[in-house]
Amino acid sequence: MRSRNGGFIGLISLLAVFAMAPVRAQTSDQIQAALDAAYAKYKDIKEGKNADYIPALARVDPKIFGIALVTTDGKIHTAGDVKSEVSIQSISKVFTMAKVMEQQGPDAIVQRIGVDATGMRFNSIVAVEFAEKALGGPEINPLVNPGAITATSMVQGGSRDEVWQSILDFHSAFAGRPLRVDQEVFDSEAASNQRNQAIGALMYAYGFIKDNPGQAVDIYTEQCAIAVNAKDLGTMAATLANAGKNPVTGKQVMKVQNVPEVLAVMATAGLYDDSGKWLYRTGLPAKSGVGGGIIAVSPGKFGIAVVSPPLDEAGNSVRAQKAITDISNTLHGNPYAPVSAKAK
Ligand code: GLN
Repeated sequence: MRSRNGGFIGLISLLAVFAMAPVRAQTSDQIQAALDAAYAKYKDIKEGKNADYIPALARVDPKIFGIALVTTDGKIHTAGDVKSEVSIQSISKVFTMAKVMEQQGPDAIVQRIGVDATGMRFNSIVAVEFAEKALGGPEINPLVNPGAITATSMVQGGSRDEVWQSILDFHSAFAGRPLRVDQEVFDSEAASNQRNQAIGALMYAYGFIKDNPGQAVDIYTEQCAIAVNAKDLGTMAATLANAGKNPVTGKQVMKVQNVPEVLAVMATAGLYDDSGKWLYRTGLPAKSGVGGGIIAVSPGKFGIAVVSPPLDEAGNSVRAQKAITDISNTLHGNPYAPVSAKAK
């Protein structure tokens, strides 16, 4: 009896050990096959529409569709068009938030802006009013416009140029090449961003922004116009997956200890009011931009990015959401998913 039970328990523990064993790293062929499959599956879908509240974004070719996955050991896998550039838009919010953490520590973000999802659209003014009047303080986050404009206002530097250059250089270090601004997009948004100017003024009125809200909005608008392709974004995501060290250039571009906080805000608020749905399906910290890019991070494994301009109602790229979800789930990218459950 005893020995029979012992044998049974032994077998169960052996099975448990197998079930818990970390999945072996995916081979390059498996990764490439996952990218190719998602590219083929979503290439011709017609859902979604380019953002048009910034006139220059409506003119971008909606057929651009590129996928780049960069592993933490620096291997780059691509499918489709990874050369065409789009504006980074809200994805820049991640890196400017990280820049503030580099200069002032992660507490500065919680204390001045907050790290809670608003549940509202990215440029909601009601969200600011609600945080101020009902919640009484810094209860938003740096990935929606009011928090992002505030984060930009917190970047240190002696002049506008110095602040801007440090933001641009920081983005470039993540991408592993010198990035530049799409002047047409910058001019177009600067001429039509009255709503963001209002948000900047409101954040100043409530004391979240300490001075010069006009400059903060202007630099924020410029950072949103940084031109990137899918490969740049994939490398930027992989740097976050690799504890802040760019796996392609080998350069440590942000402090290791700030990476968890950056990923946490991405997980709670990266896809605006659809962040919960996204996390439910993928488990991945991610960030979208109205230019059509999405980055997602599988910590310790890979960064992935897709560029495809047509967006859904929440402002997130339709193809990017679908492709990243398929690819990551195929490659066991979800940090919450037990390998045994997904491998079936
Ligand atoms: N520059 C855009 C804006 O402020 C960014 C928005 C976005 O990508 N969601 O409206």
